[in-house]
Amino acid sequence: MKHFKETLYDSVCQEYRIDKLYFESKTEHQHLMIFHNAQLGRVMTLDGIVQTTEADEFIYHEMLTHVPMLAHGAAKRVLIIGGGDGGMLREAIKHPIEHITQVEIDEAVVEMAIKYLPNHSAGAYNDKRLNLVIDDGIEFVKNTDEKFDVIISDSTDPIGPGEVLFTDNFYAQAKRCLNPGGILVTQNGVPFFQKDEVKTTFQRMGQQFADMGFYCAPIPTYYGGFMTFAWGTDNNDARDKPLAEISQQFEQLNIKTRYYNPAIHQASFALPQYILDALKPTS
Ligand code: SAM
Repeated sequence: MKHFKETLYDSVCQEYRIDKLYFESKTEHQHLMIFHNAQLGRVMTLDGIVQTTEADEFIYHEMLTHVPMLAHGAAKRVLIIGGGDGGMLREAIKHPIEHITQVEIDEAVVEMAIKYLPNHSAGAYNDKRLNLVIDDGIEFVKNTDEKFDVIISDSTDPIGPGEVLFTDNFYAQAKRCLNPGGILVTQNGVPFFQKDEVKTTFQRMGQQFADMGFYCAPIPTYYGGFMTFAWGTDNNDARDKPLAEISQQFEQLNIKTRYYNPAIHQASFALPQYILDALKPTS
């Protein structure tokens, strides 16, 4: 029986049995694999790194969507960068938005995810509000004159095509694309193993926003404990929106979730001391 061995770190790695291989090929941008594993359901990897699994994708997609959307409270226009598997799109269209643009660099990821990971997008790619753009996210934010209320960067790690989405330029351009009160959130790695990513983002993204920080959630297949999500906004009321207000709005939305709830939303901004220490200027 073949096994998938993740190549993100050189001295530790996770390994999954491949019970059924659905797709494996080099696309125009990256090496794409989709296979079935008895424990995790269907798994997608890019360039040897686990991107998403049917078993735990709900945690990541709910937290990177509903936290900024509920904190903002009146988002009508959303931008997703990356997110080719369609899970973020599926969660975002549950909100009463008017328009959503998704900018994904690799068309093959969208096509193969629709075909072999159908539960991720669950038909979301047919939503009339969607404008799907196949392009490099940095090019889009540099050139567009459109504005958005929430921008979600659902990219791969800062190696390969995803690297540009962790740069000063990307954060500055994404800021330019936000409406007043808008919020930018990004996947920002697993700090236990990728602490430098948190420090770098804090330094780079911190230059753009009045309120820049992180929130977190445990995604079992992102090896190493919880993942941090970067948060940036000039809307100083958004992060500390009262629990009662979030709860009332969440109730009205009547969105079914399996991880996200208002208490988790609020608690997710509490960070462990080793992260706070890593963000101190001297460290
Ligand atoms: N949940 C995953 C994680 O946290 O690592 C991310 C999953 S999603 C599949 C990552 C997507 O980002 C992929 O579809 C990849 O093609 C896309 N991507 C990578 N670099 C990009 C770029 N520069 N512009 C747009 N999309 C990009």
